[in-house]
Amino acid sequence: MNLWRGIKGTILPFWVTLSNMLRKPVTVQYPEERRVLPERTRAQIVLTRSPDGEERCVACYLCSAACPVDCISMQAAEDQNGRRYAAWFRINFGRCIYCGLCAEACPTLAIQMTPHYEFCERQPLALVYEKEDLLIEDGGKDGDYNFYHHAGIGVVNPRGSNPDETAPEDVRSNLP
Ligand code: SF4
Ligand code: SF4
Repeated sequence: MNLWRGIKGTILPFWVTLSNMLRKPVTVQYPEERRVLPERTRAQIVLTRSPDGEERCVACYLCSAACPVDCISMQAAEDQNGRRYAAWFRINFGRCIYCGLCAEACPTLAIQMTPHYEFCERQPLALVYEKEDLLIEDGGKDGDYNFYHHAGIGVVNPRGSNPDETAPEDVRSNLP
């Protein structure tokens, strides 16, 4: 019995080694070789634009409220049409933990995570990105979405004239 266990104990490790020698290696020789990461990978954050080319961010502060490490800050402003935007918008990537809660919280799809992860710096302050570093010329995921066409606020088009909207009710017609 002890002899059999000894033989088995000797052969089994060799068998494990041999079977793994025939498997395709999973190691990637980075940086010479780079994996294409899935679209849902949570890495560098960007600010996107709506299909009309306008900034999507309405400076509602929801992303900064949702951020567990407080690395998003901004200042809200309003243009002459009442459209809100961020006068400045800042993310400290030195603190970001890439949890994606900011993107989940954003009602306008402005803030989005990308799979781009190669942006390390030697100086921590170089990881503080301003709005001009974050804003891209694209809609990113769900590029056709335009918040102002669904929000029911007459900023871009008059109320009730957007594709999914019905005309506003005349409240006087509801009076008893
Ligand atoms: S990914 Fe998470 S930690 Fe990074 S900015 Fe967004 S909410 Fe904050
Ligand atoms: S990125 Fe989105 S959640 Fe953050 S302030 Fe702008 S609109 Fe609000």
